[in-house]
Amino acid sequence: MRIGIIGAGQLGQMLGYAARDLGMQCVFVDPSPSPPAAACGEVIQAAFDDATALSTLAETCDVVTYEFENVPIAALDEISDRVPVYPPPAALLHAQDRLTEKQLFTSLDIPLAAFHRVDSKADLETAAATIGLPLVLKTRRLGYDGKGQFVVKTAADISVAWQELGGTELIAEQWVDFDYEVSAIGARNPSGDIISYPLTQNQHVDGILHTSRAPVANEPLTLRAEQYLRRLLEALDYVGVLALELFVTGDRLMANEFAPRVHNSGHWTIEGAQPSQFTAHLLAISDASLIAPLLRGHAGMLNLIGKIPDTARMLQTGTLHDYGKEARPGRKLGHITIIADSTAERERLVSEIEQSVT
Ligand code: AMP
Repeated sequence: MRIGIIGAGQLGQMLGYAARDLGMQCVFVDPSPSPPAAACGEVIQAAFDDATALSTLAETCDVVTYEFENVPIAALDEISDRVPVYPPPAALLHAQDRLTEKQLFTSLDIPLAAFHRVDSKADLETAAATIGLPLVLKTRRLGYDGKGQFVVKTAADISVAWQELGGTELIAEQWVDFDYEVSAIGARNPSGDIISYPLTQNQHVDGILHTSRAPVANEPLTLRAEQYLRRLLEALDYVGVLALELFVTGDRLMANEFAPRVHNSGHWTIEGAQPSQFTAHLLAISDASLIAPLLRGHAGMLNLIGKIPDTARMLQTGTLHDYGKEARPGRKLGHITIIADSTAERERLVSEIEQSVT
């Protein structure tokens, strides 16, 4: 089985390692000269929407997938009559635009914070009056890791926010004073079989994922999140892994966004579950049976951002994943996963590692 992957970053790299263990080969398309996934497969160095490179994938691969959500949909449409492209481009359409994404949540009765389309300063004023302050103003497209966002706390912030972000399509969202954030990750194959991982609790710092912990010990929340995930997977006739990010306030869940791909908050599954999210994605897109994940313990995952200190290479517990990327401030360069026998032991290890790597 030969898998074509658009994008050769760390997610591509982790898919590539999982593919190798399944006896599959990967071929990637990426414009970078030495991307992380070059460690585990052939890379065609070309733009993500390069017609010749994508044709090569269509002609030489059994299935094509992607590792990030800003792939031009037109490029996928060009090849989708020649090779299966999973997840379906229709899922990307929703994930690429925060407004249609939230309209999809609404149509599926998945609870979420109030939102308002913003195309003008007057729209922003209306949004502030209807959904109240504080609110978060976000670009509808191409935002990631908290980029393209402005928290409007007072009426005086409206002009500043508009100056900062005005001129592109925007959305205003009610500020959610959440207790914590979680992600629900699952996979579906073309036959409609679905598996899901236990809820993962995520902590962000400056909009970037800092740590993840799983499983969240809250069965009612887990079951409800699984229902929402299932609704999305079925409505989109989805194939592959999908991650749904939610806010938790008391016993309430509110959807924030979804990613039609393997997700940073599921990295713990490499050591912490069988199969990992990467294996599950490959099984799903290659139309294989899906195995309900078996957990290996209480997992903790710490992202290494901006630098990988030497201490991260000398840990006696935990597994370091170094993506082989050039260090740059704010860049995800690697992560460390630990698996513990109890939540107390996990917390001890997470804080020990956190102290030694910061
Ligand atoms: P996003 O790009 O939408 O995932 O936002 C990045 C992070 O900003 C989220 O993980 C939250 O920590 C925070 N955030 C985003 N939207 C909201 C909101 N409506 N209320 C409170 N915090 C938010």
